[in-house]
Amino acid sequence: MAFESLTDRLSETLKKVRGQDRLTEENMDEMLREIRLALLEADVNFTVVKDFIKNTKEKALGQDVLGSLKPGQVVVKIVHDELVELLGTDVSTVDFSKKPTIVMMVGLQGSGKTTTTGKIAKYIKEKNHKKPLLVAADIYRPAAVEQLKTIGEQVDVPVYSEGVDVSAQQIVKNALAKAEADGNDVILIDTAGRLQIDQKLMEELKELKGIANPDEILLVVDSLAGQEIANVASSFNEQLGITGAVLTKLDGDSRGGGAISIRYLTHVPIKYIGTGEKLDQIELFYPDRMAERILG
Ligand code: GDP
Repeated sequence: MAFESLTDRLSETLKKVRGQDRLTEENMDEMLREIRLALLEADVNFTVVKDFIKNTKEKALGQDVLGSLKPGQVVVKIVHDELVELLGTDVSTVDFSKKPTIVMMVGLQGSGKTTTTGKIAKYIKEKNHKKPLLVAADIYRPAAVEQLKTIGEQVDVPVYSEGVDVSAQQIVKNALAKAEADGNDVILIDTAGRLQIDQKLMEELKELKGIANPDEILLVVDSLAGQEIANVASSFNEQLGITGAVLTKLDGDSRGGGAISIRYLTHVPIKYIGTGEKLDQIELFYPDRMAERILG
């Protein structure tokens, strides 16, 4: 549990506090300083960290900890509870019960969007017995269309594609009709990504949203993108109203602090995590496990 890693991290400070029968504001500030460092090291966005520490301190003071008998533990508990509350207390999944369920996958180029689209298709085919259709709507990179086709073959899921000469809007319209004709119950639309957020990309995504009327818009975010994650999450959410996020490349060195930034700034749940390049390396998101990883 995150409790333990937090207790470990604060062990020196807790030792000092244990010698006293009352927590002083100074002790508490010292603990909060260490927590602040842990969060920054985990790449949580710095303004998010600032707010988090401020809120936690207010909450601690509000609970009259400066007099409590086990002052260290009380602060640890408050920090832990705040973190889990921020990350979401429950596992949050995509509701695939509607037929068809339409999911738009969005994100910057290189975030792992196309791979994740294939991973979700494989996951729901095997675990939920769904009959998904993948839609290749990233018409700006011929390689992206080919990549989705290859992934479709690997996971044995059909891919709707019209190459790169037809507009993404038209492809999505045609794909919806095709899915209805073929009885696909989940439609996963792989949209274009850019290296940076630009207005043209957003306008096209907004148009696609209007056409597809998706049940979910999942933002795919590279967990290794550091402080940039906050900006990406805020922009996509403001422009499109995302309904969930997927944090990829958690098999790498990232401590996953991006999860906190995403939750704090957009309030949407993280629904999956990517844990490798292989198409079965996708998992549901467990907030308590992530809290522990972030605290290191
Ligand atoms: P897109 O441009 O957003 O569609 O990104 P891609 O799906 O092409 O992925 C970019 C690179 O990241 C590829 O080399 C993927 O194999 C890799 N990738 C995607 N997800 C993960 C993950 O969870 N872990 C690791 N290690 N690599 C990943």
